[in-house]
Amino acid sequence: MTDLEKRGDRSPVPADWTYAPAPESTDIVSLRERYGLYVGGEWLEGTEHYTTVSPRDEEPLAEVAQAGEAEVQNAVAVARDAFGTWSALAPSERAKYLFRIARILAERSREFAVLESLNGGKPIKESRDVDVPLAAAHFFYYAGWADKLEYAFPNRQPRPLGVAGQIIPWNFPLLMLAWKVAPALAAGNTVVLKPAETTPLTALLFCDVVRQAELPPGVVNIVTGDGRTGAALVEADVDKVAFTGSTEVGKAIQRRLAGSGKRLTLELGGKAANIVFDDCALDQAVEGIVNGIYFNQGHVCCAGSRLFVQESIYEPVVEKLKRRMATLRVGDPLDKNTDVGAINSREQLERISELVEAGKAEGAEIYQPPCRLPERGYWFAPTVFTNVAQSYRIAQEEIFGPVLSVLTFRTPDEAVEKANNTPYGLSAGIWTEKGSRILWMTERLRAGVVWANTFNRFDPTSPFGGYKESGFGREGGLHGLEPYLTLS
Ligand code: NDP
Repeated sequence: MTDLEKRGDRSPVPADWTYAPAPESTDIVSLRERYGLYVGGEWLEGTEHYTTVSPRDEEPLAEVAQAGEAEVQNAVAVARDAFGTWSALAPSERAKYLFRIARILAERSREFAVLESLNGGKPIKESRDVDVPLAAAHFFYYAGWADKLEYAFPNRQPRPLGVAGQIIPWNFPLLMLAWKVAPALAAGNTVVLKPAETTPLTALLFCDVVRQAELPPGVVNIVTGDGRTGAALVEADVDKVAFTGSTEVGKAIQRRLAGSGKRLTLELGGKAANIVFDDCALDQAVEGIVNGIYFNQGHVCCAGSRLFVQESIYEPVVEKLKRRMATLRVGDPLDKNTDVGAINSREQLERISELVEAGKAEGAEIYQPPCRLPERGYWFAPTVFTNVAQSYRIAQEEIFGPVLSVLTFRTPDEAVEKANNTPYGLSAGIWTEKGSRILWMTERLRAGVVWANTFNRFDPTSPFGGYKESGFGREGGLHGLEPYLTLS
């Protein structure tokens, strides 16, 4: 920080934030030129391939297999073969494997963090401090349940389902893998997982962890490819499908599986309300607003993308927010100082740009802090819209980018009504000093997760999931085991 500038009665604001570059080395990651499919504990040659790139500079990273129907069916058949032995194993033995995976993930955390940022574009400080530790924590947590299922569900007989087909998105590639794989294995199932097309590399590195942990062959299988591979996995002979991604694809999967007897959980989009009351700790709330929407470039299903500010504090909140936004460092995901990294893909950048143009055309007022975006790669400046009406597309649709819409309310009733006025129901945030108001609001908000005086907090012990078009089923905690068990 250099000199401080005093402006009227406002608190001091730094005139300039100059940070020397602090790039994380990529030496710790060694990539193959070409990856096959990880099936039955072996690498099988793919028939077709595509190139995965780094969104920070569009540089190719590796060739990855595009699995076709027959390859997916083969992976599922191998997983079914492995199910017999894996489900018959003493639960305490299964737990040992999960503990091993957790430990190895922790030991190799730097390698995973660098690769996650390289392939997905998220800031290294987030992959290092959030994604990878939480992924390891998920395995630790579910390892603990593996031999205690009868205690988890007293007077019931928990039994695994068989083979789980799991499809994950690109915003938290390793963490979503952990959310899916850990409870499935703890419950005694085997899995075939498809990572997102743009971010397959940490899932492929995870195969090496599986090998290192000496997991029996066929218990974890990874098939890469685009949406067609996902669709083939849904069609294949699996007992359960677990999907995280867009509401559109989630609905298509639900239609496809209706009447099939296959179990399904869907974790879909969101348009969370972050509600700020006039009695809150204002600076803390501004930090929460920033974390709520600019964390991971806003590629977060539970992002606080609709900010509801009580009318009496609208001006100071917006002013503080804009000043805080001016201090966000946008740039190289592998720089340890970076707050906002690269947009995950060209397609996503186009989607964000289109919705932002729609916001401007509908009459909202846009603010973007001055920041120099790198010339190569996919970038979008942190953006806030004021003067937003409830009907605008930017207030209704999931943007999945660093774009915040600010709206106002007068009374708690009005806040609830406006917050619930969305097809989604994944998460919400409340900022107030009054405990009773938090409880009152929480009872009325149609959201699977409600944070109070914080935002975007995750813990493996805590169930996560949505209402309405945000999906059904819960991941995390005891609730996260249920979708992988029959309870008789
Ligand atoms: P998708 O829903 O298409 O992607 C999620 C996963 O599903 C990916 O692995 C994808 O593969 C796979 N998939 C795609 N089509 C099918 C299909 N027909 N059957 C089975 N699996 C399929 O999301 P997008 O990546 O297209 O993102 C679009 C929008 O969705 C975003 O702008 C955002 O609004 C929302 N989204 C929400 C997420 C959330 O966590 N709630 C996560 C990701 C996106 P592939 O990557 O190869 O296409």
